[in-house]
Amino acid sequence: MKFSVVQECPQCGAPLEMDEADRLLPCPFCGVASFLFSDDCYRFVLPSRESNRDLIFAPYLRFKGTAFHCDLKGVHYRILDITQLGIPFKRFPMSLGLRPQAMKMRFAHADVAGSFLKCFLKTDDMLERAKRHSSAADMGEALCRIFIGDAVSLIYLPLYVERGVIFDGVTNRPVAALPKHRDILSSIADHGPRWKLTFLPTLCPRCGWNLTGERDSVVLTCRNCETAWEVKKGKFVQRELGVVSADSSESIYLPFWKMAVETTGIPIASYADFIRATNQPRVVQRKWEDQNMYFWSPAFKIRPSRFLYLSRQLTVMQIPHEPEGRLPPGNLYPATVPLSEAIQGIKITLAGTAVNKKVFMPRLQDIRLSIRGASLIYLPFRETSHELVQEHTRVSINRTSLNFGRFL
Ligand SMILES: [Zn+2]
Ligand SMILES: [Zn+2]
Repeated sequence: MKFSVVQECPQCGAPLEMDEADRLLPCPFCGVASFLFSDDCYRFVLPSRESNRDLIFAPYLRFKGTAFHCDLKGVHYRILDITQLGIPFKRFPMSLGLRPQAMKMRFAHADVAGSFLKCFLKTDDMLERAKRHSSAADMGEALCRIFIGDAVSLIYLPLYVERGVIFDGVTNRPVAALPKHRDILSSIADHGPRWKLTFLPTLCPRCGWNLTGERDSVVLTCRNCETAWEVKKGKFVQRELGVVSADSSESIYLPFWKMAVETTGIPIASYADFIRATNQPRVVQRKWEDQNMYFWSPAFKIRPSRFLYLSRQLTVMQIPHEPEGRLPPGNLYPATVPLSEAIQGIKITLAGTAVNKKVFMPRLQDIRLSIRGASLIYLPFRETSHELVQEHTRVSINRTSLNFGRFL
């Protein structure tokens, strides 16, 4: 379920419509593209029909992503899309129902008139509750649980008070009687919130050229100086970029994160260590002892089962081809998964590659990872009628799961 948002172009003020996951905002009116960034989680308000009233905004916490569950049998997953009331008022609607889907939201920031109530619900607590409901009977005791979120955001429902009754500002229906302690609402108000949306001009910090990407890209590239940029703390930071050349000019290039990590608990410094730790059915070659180990992850959204498959295959294979090519003129698939999410996925890749699950899984919790380096690598794929096939490894991706991931 995706929501749409209306936001004014920071350059010319024209109203633009975007998806909640969009970060790059090209304006068809003034031609300027801006990149959107929030220091905190993204906050949205539902539109109220009541413009003349004092509005109170009640927070609903939203998590959209995948819950991975590792047990002795393997890795299981479930796609979650939950929205839950963030204040302890039992009479308020627990969820927003279809409201966010049916209407266009706006970003909440310090200038929106009204009083915002603080959110008391923590993401971990909400997910903990969801976990209890989701554990299927065939799942064993969780030895490791990892949540990878596409969106953790707050959606605010506008409310107003009339003659001692709290009304829903979207439907104009009564929600609850005003609590006896009338000041309870003001006591939990977030006074003077400083939420701010940052709009960055999409110019290459290195050479000043226009950065390119698609609306949902989280990494933008500069075709002039061949660099890649991801936003961190309101600034573009450079990511190492590599392109593995293709044999054909018709290839499609898909982005992957290639990560070097330091592990404790189960030390994996070389490729040989990895083969031994995960019990791969291969005889360790002497040269592997000195070969650096890299974890691979798709840098694009895709069904969790394919995410697992691709990470596993590329990590076990360790693409032997050095990225030495230049960015191709077209056919560059957007990078929509931030590096931070790919890092979270490394444990799942390890769990997925381990052959002897009974021995490996109980040790999973002891593994601590710290990232030593990462680069965004574009790998060439050749298109067949239903699939994209990686040219060096023959690893394939079904077109449908790629589309599914994009519009998840
Ligand atoms: Zn504009
Ligand atoms: Zn540049």
